[in-house]
Amino acid sequence: MKKLFANRVLNNDTSDLDNIFKNSANPANISFAGGFPDVDLFPATDLKRAYQDAIDHDGPAIFQYQSTQGLPALRQKLAQRMASHAGVMTTADNVMLTQGGQQAIDLVAKLLLNRGDSMVVEGPTYMGALAAFDTYEPTYYEVPVDNHGMNIQKLRQTLQAHPEIKLIYTVPDFHNPTGTTLTAKRRQEMVALANQYDVIILEDSPYRDLRYSGKSVPAIKHYDTEGRVIFISSFSKILSPALRTGWIVADDEIMHELIGLKSAIDVQSPNITLAAINAYLDHHDIDEHIKTINQAYRVKRDAMLKALDKYMPNNSHYTRPAGGFFIWVTLPAGMDANQLLTNVVLPQAHVAYVPAACQFASRQVKNAFRLNFTSLDPETITTGIKRLGGLLQTKLAV
Ligand code: PMP
Repeated sequence: MKKLFANRVLNNDTSDLDNIFKNSANPANISFAGGFPDVDLFPATDLKRAYQDAIDHDGPAIFQYQSTQGLPALRQKLAQRMASHAGVMTTADNVMLTQGGQQAIDLVAKLLLNRGDSMVVEGPTYMGALAAFDTYEPTYYEVPVDNHGMNIQKLRQTLQAHPEIKLIYTVPDFHNPTGTTLTAKRRQEMVALANQYDVIILEDSPYRDLRYSGKSVPAIKHYDTEGRVIFISSFSKILSPALRTGWIVADDEIMHELIGLKSAIDVQSPNITLAAINAYLDHHDIDEHIKTINQAYRVKRDAMLKALDKYMPNNSHYTRPAGGFFIWVTLPAGMDANQLLTNVVLPQAHVAYVPAACQFASRQVKNAFRLNFTSLDPETITTGIKRLGGLLQTKLAV
């Protein structure tokens, strides 16, 4: 059958990743591999009420087709939130609701990328974004991430060397997978470079509100002077991923095309869910909810960092994120985190992580891995890192 498949799926080998997640699901293992919120922190009762309220309030009309762009009242709230929480002045007309941030990435890729078109991604980057971009067969240029986000010097060199680049994809807040945050200065520099080289920036920021320490930085779009930054975010990490609701903020010309593309894919996001989220926001202070989850996630992050400090060999290092879901661990050069996972870590320590390679467009970096700290309780985190660190102490002994 494969010979009938389109090229876009043929180099899409997810078998390594499928195996990791299969092993993660085994209850005998402690999995730091997934990127899941803590199920106990979902406001389940409030959301149930919100669906009920939305149906009661709107009557039968809630079951009708609605606009592709999504419920105006919810877009209005998000436009206001963009101003108060991200420093982005926008209007409801410049917000579109999508089925998660994932659909938003796909829509932007579909808008911009012809086969072979050049784009910049961080190295490493969010593997789900690579999966979405791969479908459009772009040419990737990888720009490294350091403790302050994307390395702007390297970005400048890349844009100079490849003026045909059309798009920069970045996760500036509590980056998936390294947890680092782009500084305000670098955000301004990135926009200046995008203006200079006529590039669009896709700012993917689903972790923005999950800050456990330090001060918030304005969105990259805050610095946008030419309408070339597309901002996307999601309710997945702050309310629930099952809502499958994210949003795009874009200027008129781009928004117009994105609406057309979404209409062709799914006509609209489920209106009942959008109305339920809108009702939730009417009746609850979502910032109070976010404060509650941030307190819980801060404890988990601290537990993981403390365990890493105590148990990891000193020839490996790791990031210390101020928020988000992930910590990135770098092993000595020459180590292969994927082989280590399959041959040693899973069978002997019964711990899972996501190895580096599938999180790089180039697949070239192997001596690192991603740890998630949000889905498990602090005791399990400590036990898992103790087992992982103890094993690595013996394997990485110099
Ligand atoms: N962007 C990033 C950086 C992510 O980490 C995720 C989810 N893990 C998404 C987008 C997509 O999330 P969703 O579709 O659930 O909003």
